[in-house]
Amino acid sequence: MWLSCGRTSNYFTSFSCRVFRSRLDVLGRRGCNTAAFMPEAAGFEGVSSCSELQELSVSGGSSFWAAVARHRLSWISPFTTVQDCDLSRGRIKWFEGGKLNVSVNCLDRHVHTCPDRVALIWERDEPGSEVRVTYRQLLEMTCRVGNLLRRHGVKRGDCVTIYMPSCPLAVASMLACARIGAAHNVVFAGFSAEALSERIRDAQSSVIITVNQGVRGGKVTELKRTVDEALQSCPAVRKVFVAMRTETPVVMTARDVAMDEEMLKEDAVCEPAAMDSEDILFLLYTSGSTGKPKGLVHTQAGYLLYAALTHRYVFDYHDGDVFGCVADIGWITGHSYSVYGPLANGGTTVLFESTPIYPDPGRYWETVQRLKINQFYGAPTAIRLLLKYGDQWVTKYDRSSLKTLGSVGEPINTEAWEWYYSVVGDRRCPVVDTWWQTETGGICIAPRPSDPDAEIVPGMAMRPFFGIKPVLMDTEGKVVTSNNTSGALCIAQPWPGMARTIHNNHQRFTETYCQPYPGYFYTGDGAYRSKEGYYQITGRLDDVINVSGHRIGTAEIEDVVNQCSAVAESAVIGYSHDVKGQGVYAFVVLKKSADAQESDLSRQLKDTVSKKIAKYACPDCIQIVQRLPKTRSGKIMRRVLRKVVERELDELGDLSTLDDPAVVQEIIEGHAELLRKKQSQ
Ligand code: AMP
Repeated sequence: MWLSCGRTSNYFTSFSCRVFRSRLDVLGRRGCNTAAFMPEAAGFEGVSSCSELQELSVSGGSSFWAAVARHRLSWISPFTTVQDCDLSRGRIKWFEGGKLNVSVNCLDRHVHTCPDRVALIWERDEPGSEVRVTYRQLLEMTCRVGNLLRRHGVKRGDCVTIYMPSCPLAVASMLACARIGAAHNVVFAGFSAEALSERIRDAQSSVIITVNQGVRGGKVTELKRTVDEALQSCPAVRKVFVAMRTETPVVMTARDVAMDEEMLKEDAVCEPAAMDSEDILFLLYTSGSTGKPKGLVHTQAGYLLYAALTHRYVFDYHDGDVFGCVADIGWITGHSYSVYGPLANGGTTVLFESTPIYPDPGRYWETVQRLKINQFYGAPTAIRLLLKYGDQWVTKYDRSSLKTLGSVGEPINTEAWEWYYSVVGDRRCPVVDTWWQTETGGICIAPRPSDPDAEIVPGMAMRPFFGIKPVLMDTEGKVVTSNNTSGALCIAQPWPGMARTIHNNHQRFTETYCQPYPGYFYTGDGAYRSKEGYYQITGRLDDVINVSGHRIGTAEIEDVVNQCSAVAESAVIGYSHDVKGQGVYAFVVLKKSADAQESDLSRQLKDTVSKKIAKYACPDCIQIVQRLPKTRSGKIMRRVLRKVVERELDELGDLSTLDDPAVVQEIIEGHAELLRKKQSQ
């Protein structure tokens, strides 16, 4: 069995090429050793500091990326052009003419130099039962999966949907797709059958890889059963590969394949496909401001290079370090920093299957101690949750291995940042607040890399990464040049890691990202630039909310809420939540005929949302209202609803465009009543 073996591996790990010198030593003597920090810099004249390197990466983007791509990727045949991009038309192409295989870059080349180095440490849900997988073993597993997929008819250009928790076989499945030239579409294993089926259909997948059951926080989830339910509306699916995470057998149908057994019959060598730089590597669905999730497309060379470079420099990752990104592989963070970035760099990466509080709130730090994690990368929502449990859950474990702490997914508030820095990191480890998105492929703004001893300001992502030129736009669409000001965050020039399109909908891609500010990539986020020129992300500017670091469109939740039989219409907004960052607040207008009890309705709505989307999208608060505030043209004025919920009643703004301004008073009173009820519970 590939998954359920609970033994700690006996494989000896030899890190023959350890580099103990830190980046700070290397850049410590300004002007003398930039090439030791980044070998490619030897070819850039007059660059003697990290900030000069950043400037050059923006002003001379093509030479910078060409040098880095030649040095850091193994090519089957070299690229002939560095970039061919036109942001105004959504045309983004990097390293054309080049051929490579991503799995060879992540596995084979390290097997040649350090076969017994540990590639993955699978931190299983059951504490103390971690499994280590060497590069040699991961290559073998990947080849067997690749051959299995090929035997069952998966071809170059097909798309395989992977519905699995974080585990070595999920990584091998992603890499196996890359090996044979198929795209993968990983769907977070917390998504419901309906959300899964929508993503399978949109991706036109005919092959699925899953497990019998998932295990998380001590609870078992029936993933195979969810797949079966999803497939009732996916007639094109012809094969489901089922691996065994637990011992519990599941019902198998004619289209199901027992993956563990069948893999053993396959050859451990699998010929890698020679892929073009711009062939699709994967699709990853994310929420937008309309009801329909979008399948962002990432391609081979540019994505891999960007993931590898950001992993190396933002976290100051060195050979021999153990990198602990606790995100699930179902999100872009798991793709770029649990899988592709670390493996392209020949690193050792942790796959975390559990939760921050299982079996107790010391889980992260006990794991850090046991696995000797050097870089820990997690989400502010978990930090906020853990700080409530108290310092003792942290301080009882040895965290001396830690060198860098990372934060991702949402703004990190100062209190959480300070706790992370002082208690978790003992004021020794830089905290890197990393801003990026599914669309950007990798980190775009983070405090590191930077010149030695450059300051880090709590709660700020601060500095653009190599090749990134952030700009702020004012309400008239003009670039804001001054500091100490806010605006819509755009990126002024393309970079290799960015998404290329939305699967089957390039028009939506250009409309969403390229047309709002022609010639610029629009991120959908707002940002503040301090007087020193540092960036701080202020939050989404569109109807997308961020619950515990997970992005969800308000329209997506409304679609589902409106499907409940008692509901006439609804408006969903995000509001500040002390643990989740943002909570979901639903204003609901009932049908005249509805006689639902409030408690029944609330249960019905939550059940429906969790069944149709996922648990994290469930409303935290439901307010039943007679009417919604609408303009005369019928548009819901969410701005007003947000102000009511945030209790900013003197900032309601101009209400004169409302069809009936009296609605607002009813909603204010209803909200106050709801608060009173909650407080008395
Ligand atoms: P996703 O594509 O699901 O990873 O979500 C990306 C969104 O999360 C961004 O557009 C931001 O709104 C938010 N986000 C990610 N990282 C940060 C950060 N460090 N600070 C503030 N917001 C962030």
